[in-house]
Amino acid sequence: MYDIETREKALALLAQGFSQNAVSKRTGISRAALRSWCIRLEPLNHSAPCPRCGDTPTTPQDPAAYAYLLGLYLGDGWISAARRGVYFLRIACADAWPGLIDACAEAILAVRPGNKVFRVQRPGCQNVTSWSRHWPCLFPQHGPGRKHEREIALEPWQRRIVDSHPWDFVRGLIHSDGCRVTNWTTRLVAGERKRYEYPRYWFTNVSDDIRRLYTDTLDSLGVEWKNCARAGKPYNVSVARRASVALMDAHVGPKY
Ligand SMILES: [Zn+2]
Repeated sequence: MYDIETREKALALLAQGFSQNAVSKRTGISRAALRSWCIRLEPLNHSAPCPRCGDTPTTPQDPAAYAYLLGLYLGDGWISAARRGVYFLRIACADAWPGLIDACAEAILAVRPGNKVFRVQRPGCQNVTSWSRHWPCLFPQHGPGRKHEREIALEPWQRRIVDSHPWDFVRGLIHSDGCRVTNWTTRLVAGERKRYEYPRYWFTNVSDDIRRLYTDTLDSLGVEWKNCARAGKPYNVSVARRASVALMDAHVGPKY
C-alpha cells in the first residue's frame, strides 16, 4: 500500500486546499484511499472535546497558549471551510524564524490536543496548518472576506483570557505582524564620534480593530506606543521609549 511519507504528502496537499480529485491526479493515489484516510483522520478531531460548543461552554484548557495563538491568528492566520464541517486553520510563518514555526505548531497542539499539525512549504514561508471542526468555535472572528474588511471584536470569554495573559497575546501579535529593529546613529561627544542604538518594536496591521486590540493591551501593561503613518496610511504602531522597549524585551524579545 502507501508508506507514511506518501500519505503525509497527500494529506499536506489536502491541507493546502487541493481537492481529493486533484491530489489523486497529482500523486497517483486512488481517490478511495484518500477518502478513507480523511474519514479515519476525522475521529482524531473528536479526541479532545471542544471547550466552546458543549452544553456548558468553558475556555481552552491552556489559556496562555490560546492567547498566543489568538495573536498569531489575528496577525497572519486564516480559517477556511474544507469539507463536511471541517475547517483548516493556517498560520503563515516566515522561513527566517524556525523557532517561531515550532512555537506556532506547539500552540496549536496545546489548544487542540490530538489534532495533527502540518507544515506546508510555500515560497518564503511555511503554512502551519491543522484541521478541526472547532476552529470557528475557538476563533469566532472567522467570517467571509478578509479580516481587515470586517469588524474584529473579542468575545467576553476571549477578553478574559487576553486580560489574564496579556503578554502571550502581545507576543503572538508581534511574532506574526511585528518585529524588533535596531536603528542607530552617531553623535560627536567631546570630539569623539560615538554610536547610539535605538531598538524599537513595530507592529503593522491594516485592520484598525486589530491594531486597537494591540494598543489597548499595551496600555494595560504600561507600554507606551505611537501611531506612525507611512505614506499616509496609519498601519504602524511603534514602541520606542526606553522603559517600554525594556518591558517588551523582557516579555517578547527578538524573533528567533
Ligand atoms: Zn466546537
